[in-house]
Amino acid sequence: MAAGALAFFIIKAQSVMPATVLAPQEVKPVKKVQRPDIRESLLTPNAYSRPQIELKEVNAVVIHYVANPGTSAKDNRNYFEGLKDSQATYASSNFIVGLKGEILQCVPLDEVAYCSNERNEDSISIECCHLDETGKFNDNTYQSLVHLTAWLCGRYNLTADKIIRHYDVTGKNCPKYYVEHEEAWTQFKMDVEAYIAEHGEE
Ligand SMILES: [Zn+2]
Repeated sequence: MAAGALAFFIIKAQSVMPATVLAPQEVKPVKKVQRPDIRESLLTPNAYSRPQIELKEVNAVVIHYVANPGTSAKDNRNYFEGLKDSQATYASSNFIVGLKGEILQCVPLDEVAYCSNERNEDSISIECCHLDETGKFNDNTYQSLVHLTAWLCGRYNLTADKIIRHYDVTGKNCPKYYVEHEEAWTQFKMDVEAYIAEHGEE
């Protein structure tokens, strides 16, 4: 078929397409998985790391790496806490996943954390610890991150395309391993989906 004729055919086909085809497809809500074991270690309210700005909507989960090899979740939590005195910068995260798979919560789910730049006001942030400069997460950290992310997806009805990297917001090399290994990032999102499929309930 010549290009012109094909174009005509496509236009013709669109014009006779029944309206129902264009209606939004019925989307099933994301299944809910059990809440992982979360240790609440909330920051003291302060302008630098816990400004207590209301988080009005959650449209994404943003994954980060701490960029400080070998540090624990507690170390990073205490760094955020210390900003209230040092006033060095504005930084925090809703969650930090540690090297043993422990999950610390620093900022409540209904408050903005200073982690993901222009997505601070409509996302939940997760920082992850790592052993070395590659930024690769160990198995403990990875398994907890999968569970935590899966739980948040169910809680906020987010599909896997709403799981994003800090890199996707600002172009920053964070989380380093998943910026440098696109296939591992795709695998992570598939692992979250698989976790929800296996453990989720309607
Ligand atoms: Zn980051």
